[in-house]
Amino acid sequence: MTQQIDKTQQQVQHIEHFIAGARSAGSGDRTQEVYNPATGEVSGILHLASDEDLQRTVAAARAAADSWGDVSLSRRMAVLFTFRELVAAHTDDLARLITAEHGKVLSDAKGEVGRGLEVVEFACGITEHLKGEFSDQFSTGIDVYSFRQPLGVVAGITPFNFPVMVPLWMAPVAIATGNAFILKPSERDPSPSLLIAELWKQAGLPDGVFQVLHGGKEAVDGLLTHPDVDGISFVGSTPIARYVHETATKHGKRVQALGGAKNHAVVLPDADMDVAADNINAAAFGSAGERCMAISVAVAVGEAADQLVDKLAERAREITVGNGMHEASDMGPVITPASKDRIQKIVTAAEEDGAAIVVDGRDLIVADHEDGFFVGPTVLDRVRQDMQAYEEEIFGPVLVVLRVDSLEAAIEVINANPYGNGTAIFTSSGAYARQFKRRVSVGMIGVNVPIPVPVAWHSFGGWKASLFGDHHIYGPDGVRFYTRGKAVTERWPEPHHASGASFAFPSSS
Ligand code: NAD
Repeated sequence: MTQQIDKTQQQVQHIEHFIAGARSAGSGDRTQEVYNPATGEVSGILHLASDEDLQRTVAAARAAADSWGDVSLSRRMAVLFTFRELVAAHTDDLARLITAEHGKVLSDAKGEVGRGLEVVEFACGITEHLKGEFSDQFSTGIDVYSFRQPLGVVAGITPFNFPVMVPLWMAPVAIATGNAFILKPSERDPSPSLLIAELWKQAGLPDGVFQVLHGGKEAVDGLLTHPDVDGISFVGSTPIARYVHETATKHGKRVQALGGAKNHAVVLPDADMDVAADNINAAAFGSAGERCMAISVAVAVGEAADQLVDKLAERAREITVGNGMHEASDMGPVITPASKDRIQKIVTAAEEDGAAIVVDGRDLIVADHEDGFFVGPTVLDRVRQDMQAYEEEIFGPVLVVLRVDSLEAAIEVINANPYGNGTAIFTSSGAYARQFKRRVSVGMIGVNVPIPVPVAWHSFGGWKASLFGDHHIYGPDGVRFYTRGKAVTERWPEPHHASGASFAFPSSS
């Protein structure tokens, strides 16, 4: 086992695909650099798939799907249980790979692995969801039952911000339900996916059931249009989610495409302001704001505003920004220099448009990490809905504060926003909280909880531009997404009771 990890670490410099049970450099000559965002150094060379690599991967998945879908549930579960143990045992290794390429602090990376593990545990109990339904004696001598079968070959296309958790939102459920799964991870932090592939193999998963294919748009397009791919799970930004949904559905595939977000936390004057500020601070600046469920907008209602802004500013200034590998760091860098530049420009534009910069992280330099992609925590007050800082998903450590007069106005702001991923309310009033959660057009809601990512046995999904498709991800919706239903109507006639043909439409009797 230790040998496997050493192998992974050596290959961080040279990041290959995982096709048909083995690492492969592929047949293409295109590569892309992978960075350590804390130092700005190139840490790996990623091989990008050629069309031949894609064809080979899909062919291996097709062959594997046909046999894996036929493997008994108890054998499939044995693999899942072993995989669960292996992921748990390699939490630290996975976390280090995440931090090295993503930049988030190690404790956060471990938390990410833990949330992915939850879905593996859910998938260990998939038998409960595949029991089917049975209607005994629906009509005289006739029973009706329904059950679900795997889709076949499914591909998961995942974003940079959770290189372990998001693939684990998909693959365990897809594999437990009998599919072959092709992971196309983000090009920015692709290494953890290879350790995941090694762990599946060690768990006894047959070759070809879980594969990793690296690439950008060409690889994605190849998967979206390939006749042998039956389903696509996508998580990423809204424009790409929309494109993936449109393209893959046009090619006859089942698609779930989760997009971007702008998550609001409403703070009522009756809230405990310290609790609200602590929670919003962590939810805005954890992982440098690069979470699809990050709180990026605080909506302060009435007299909550002055107190809340003071407390948020105080807390934002206390955050230690640094290399995610260092224990003292609370927050790491952002993912690329381009991202850093874009975030700084959005803050400058907000200032020019009249927002008040309460905490300014634009010029932060981290000692001994002058080339790292760091932006400090930034708090913008008196932001309006027509400013770029509000309209766009910033995906960085920037919290904008909007001031409104009432709960009613706060709900209007949220419902006018094109995104509908997550939201939260901080209040001591059950009645206000109830009104809020019933009226907001958002998929996941926290009451005095800032990042309401549902546990694995409830499904995860936003509304509006945060999700394209009919199914949320993981949990019961995940099982439905990766399977197709069949209904059987069955009669075993008693010997010598033939009653002749009837041409009327069959009805019960
Ligand atoms: P992204 O959309 O740039 O990339 C996601 C995936 O799509 C990657 O694998 C990438 O290679 C691929 N891709 C990128 N451009 C493409 C193109 N033109 N054609 C085809 N494929 C393409 O997203 P990202 O920057 O990696 O991740 C951040 C985004 O993901 C944010 O918007 C965030 O809100 C969102 N996100 C959403 C959720 C959710 O659950 N809704 C979860 C995590 C992240």
